[in-house]
Amino acid sequence: MIERLVIMGATGDLTGRYLLPGLAALRARGYLGDGFELIAASREDWDDDRFRTHAAAWLEEEAADVDAGARTFVLRSSHYRRLDLGDAATVAACVAGDGPVAAYLALPPSVFPLAVRALHSAGLPTGSRVVLEKPFGEDLASAIELNRLLASVMSEGEIFRVDHFLAMTTVQTLLGTRLANRVLEPIWNGAHIDEVEIVWEESLALEGRAGYYDGVGALKDMVQNHLLQILCLVAMEPPITLGERDLRDRKLDVLRSIRPFDEVRVRSATRRARYLAGRLGDRQVPAYVDESGVDPAHGTETFAEVVFELEGWRWADTAFRVRTGKAMARDRKEVVVHFRQVPHLPSGDALPPSNRLRFGLEAQELSLELTGVGPGVGVSLVPLVLQAQLEEPELPAYGRLLLNVLSGDTTLSIRGDEAEESWRVVTPILDGWEAGHVPMEEYPAGSDGPVGQ
Ligand code: NDP
Repeated sequence: MIERLVIMGATGDLTGRYLLPGLAALRARGYLGDGFELIAASREDWDDDRFRTHAAAWLEEEAADVDAGARTFVLRSSHYRRLDLGDAATVAACVAGDGPVAAYLALPPSVFPLAVRALHSAGLPTGSRVVLEKPFGEDLASAIELNRLLASVMSEGEIFRVDHFLAMTTVQTLLGTRLANRVLEPIWNGAHIDEVEIVWEESLALEGRAGYYDGVGALKDMVQNHLLQILCLVAMEPPITLGERDLRDRKLDVLRSIRPFDEVRVRSATRRARYLAGRLGDRQVPAYVDESGVDPAHGTETFAEVVFELEGWRWADTAFRVRTGKAMARDRKEVVVHFRQVPHLPSGDALPPSNRLRFGLEAQELSLELTGVGPGVGVSLVPLVLQAQLEEPELPAYGRLLLNVLSGDTTLSIRGDEAEESWRVVTPILDGWEAGHVPMEEYPAGSDGPVGQ
C-alpha cells in the first residue's frame, strides 16, 4: 500500500468535492494507517494552514457524515506545496521523500501531458503510480498521443485512468446480479432482450461549470467514458475472473464489437439537443446559450442519445440506447433491461407488458417487473414489481477508487487500449455532428428532453 498521495490541482473542485471526502471515508473504515501523508499541490502560494482551512470547509460540506476524527486525520496528514509545472524544482519537491508516491492529476486535461513530462523529469521514486482523471484525451489523436507518452515513462500497471462510475457500488451490483444468477445468464442475449437503456439524466443544469463543459458537451463528457463503460459491463461475456486482465479484455471485446457508425447511422441512431430557458424546481434557469461563460459558437449539446448495436451472436437484434441530459425534469439514473414479450397467451388476452429489470445507478435499487395474477374468477393479469433496496456501500466511489490506486489494483481503471477504442467508437458521431448531419434540437429546462423520444 502506497502511503504518500500527491494531489496536483488540490485547490480545485474535484479534490474538495470527492478526493478529500474519499480519503476521510478510507480513514474512517481503517484503510489509511497513521503513516499516510497527503501532499496537496497547486498554483496558489499557500502554506499548510491555508490549505487545511480550505480543506476543512470542503470536508464540512461534503463529508459531514464521516467520523470527525477521520476528517481531522486527513487535515493533519496534509502538507501544501506550490506547484509550477514548468519549474522542475517545484515538481520534485512534491514527490521527494521516502518510498513511492501516487500522483493524482486533478488538473485540467489539457495539462496532463505537461504534468506527466514534469513528473518524469522530476524523477518519480520507483514503484510510483500516476492517476489520470477523465477525460482521457480530448479526441482519438490526443488519447493515442497521451498513451504513447505514458508508455514511454512508465509501465501500464502503474497507470490509473480512473472512471469513478466503475467504482460505484451499483455498477458492481449490476455485474454481480448478472453473473451470479443462473436464471439470468441463459436469457442474457438478443433472443430474449429487446433493448437495454442506459440513462443518466440529471436535473442539474450547467451550475457555473462552463469553463469545463462548454465545447465538450454530453457525448464527450458522459457517453465516451462513463456510459460506454456501463454498456461494456452489461454486454460483456462472463469473465473467467474479476482480475484486471480478464475484466478489461472482456470490456475491450464489447467496444470492438460495436457496429461502426457511418453517415446513415449517425443520422438515424443519434440525437443531440440543448436546453432552453425553463424552470428547475423553484429556480428559473436561462437557456444554455445564455449561461455565463458559454460561447454559442461552440455548438455544445447538453443532451445526447445514441443507439448502439453490437456485432456478434449474443447481441444480434438488441438495441443499446444510451441517453444523457442536463436540466431535465428529474434525476433518472438507471439501466433498464427490456425483455421481449411472450409470444402467446393461451387466454387469448392482449399480451402483457414485457418484463423489465431495472438497476438504479445512484440509488441502491434493483427491481424486476413481472406480470402477476389478480383476484377474481379466471386469470386476470396485473403488473407485479419486485423491489430490493440494497445496502449502502462501505465506501463512496472515490474512496474505493483511491483505495485501488493506493493498493495497486488496476481492475477499476481503464486500460490504454480501452480508452482509445472508446474514442474510436464516438469519433464518427462527433464528426457527423460537426458536419451538421444531425440537427441540434432544443428542449425547455425542466422537461423530459427533446420531443419525440
Ligand atoms: P478545477 O478547475 O476546479 O481545478 C483544477 C485544479 O488544477 C486547480 O487547483 C487549478 O489551480 C489547478 N491547475 C490548473 N492549471 C494548472 C497548471 N497549469 N499548473 C498547476 N495547477 C493547475 O477542476 P476540477 O477539480 O473540477 O477537475 C479536475 C480534473 O478532474 C479534470 O480533469 C476534470 O475533468 C476531472 N473531473 C472533475 C470532476 C468534478 O466533479 N469536478 C468529476 C470527474 C472528473 P488554479 O485554481 O490555480 O487554476
